Amino acid sequence: MIEPFLQIAADKNVKLVAVSKTHPVERILEVYQHGQRIFGENRAQEMQVKHSVLPKDIEWHMIGHLQTNKVKYIASFVQMIHSVDSLTLLLEINKQGQKYNRTIDCLLQFHIASETTKFGFDLSEAEALLKTAEFHELTNIRICGVMGMATFTDDKTLVRNEFKTLKTIFTHLKQTYFKDSDFFTEISMGMSDDWEIAVEEGSTMIRIGSLIFGNRSYNI
Ligand SMILES: *Cc1c(COP(=O)(O)O)cnc(C)c1O
Repeated sequence: MIEPFLQIAADKNVKLVAVSKTHPVERILEVYQHGQRIFGENRAQEMQVKHSVLPKDIEWHMIGHLQTNKVKYIASFVQMIHSVDSLTLLLEINKQGQKYNRTIDCLLQFHIASETTKFGFDLSEAEALLKTAEFHELTNIRICGVMGMATFTDDKTLVRNEFKTLKTIFTHLKQTYFKDSDFFTEISMGMSDDWEIAVEEGSTMIRIGSLIFGNRSYNI
């Protein structure tokens, strides 16, 4: 069911990433035909295959943990990588961007959940990265904001507080490191179970999978 989310994205002025991981290209095309253009995947090779057969005006967003050696599969076309969680990864994205003569939009992923399994920086790690000389020499990446995943829980207060934390991190980074950037504007937060809270807390991009495509046949 894509229509309600197209409406929500328009009404709330947020970008909608339709998370199509595990779903076949026929399903993606159906959603595309309703007007959706941004799709999110979490595996590089799966994204590469889908990109090769689907319409070229789709914007592909990498939302899952990305291994350095997989960047090459998506670097020629990926629109945004939400899941940047190390300087090593950023260096590789920059290198691949140079190879294809493009600038790749990136978000810094923050670990805001209480679960230990989720990837991402904490604030001090990200600040350490932003202060390195290497970071300042990168020519083919653009840091466009932050991304985070809340704890998978029914405790709405916890989820809300985690989103508030991400917003605070965003504001701090913007004021401290990206004051003059026209690009550092995005807060990617909110999924099928918690997008309403995320939007209330200032999300600019929601990543919706199951509510659009139904359940995934395998869990990744
Ligand atoms: C799978 C996934 C989503 C979408 O999850 P749903 O609960 O199906 O909406 C969003 N963000 C990330 C990082 C994901 O891996």
